[in-house]
Amino acid sequence: MMPSDPTLSIVIPVYNEQDNLVPLLDELVAVVQELDQPFEIICVDDASTDNSFSVLQDLKQKYPQLRVIQHAVNCGESAGQATGFAHARGRWIVTMDADQQNDPADIPALLEASRHVDAVCGIRRRREDNWVKRTSSKVANGFRNKVTGDVIADAGCTFRLLKREALREIPVFNGMHRFLPTLLRLQGFKVVEIPVNHRPRIRGESKYGIGNRMFRGLVDCFAILWWRKRCLPTRRFVPEDEVPSP
Ligand code: UDP
Ligand code: MG
Repeated sequence: MMPSDPTLSIVIPVYNEQDNLVPLLDELVAVVQELDQPFEIICVDDASTDNSFSVLQDLKQKYPQLRVIQHAVNCGESAGQATGFAHARGRWIVTMDADQQNDPADIPALLEASRHVDAVCGIRRRREDNWVKRTSSKVANGFRNKVTGDVIADAGCTFRLLKREALREIPVFNGMHRFLPTLLRLQGFKVVEIPVNHRPRIRGESKYGIGNRMFRGLVDCFAILWWRKRCLPTRRFVPEDEVPSP
């Protein structure tokens, strides 16, 4: 039976992760069940070419809290997140990768840090990726902060807790997931960062390298610079007493 009114939605973009899905769901559900609040898990299959979709369908028997949505064509991680946001019903949304690099055991700490803020973003404490990824991330974070004028320690970490209401004002584009904390701040929302665990990818392959991540991410910084000047943080227009309380 599906809980009618989940308070927490966990959104997971999935692209060719067939061998990660069973251990991911087993580990995740064990943690979230302990929170003692209704939840849903939304896996967005981004037109995988392996068996991810059928593995997810099977997992629905075991975990009735699981909802599976499938893209008709591969659209990328940001699109996966955006589809999940559009379908999520919880007041809060956790985003995480499907590859088990994020540790569900950090979810209680994300929730704990959410008092009086609109988003809690992870900073990977000890990054378990290769040298190329770690270096390109360092360069990208430095450049991004310089151009966008924001300070986000680890924009590439997509393990986050987000207030669903706040996401309504965020523009969706391919690459959005790297700028989500900055986009939220530009709309006037409060974002904090906390350290999270990071683990090596054991199964499946990373979908990103220098070519399809770093250079595009650097170019996108200039779009954010433009957005910073032109965005309309609607919250600032409403009288103080009508601003929804956190
Ligand atoms: N992903 C997706 N569509 C894509 C590429 C990636 O849904 O076109 C998912 C992928 O399955 C994973 C998450 O996005 O859950 C992050 O991808 P990945 O782990 O490869 O990135 P990395 O951690 O290496 O930066
Ligand atoms: Mg990963």
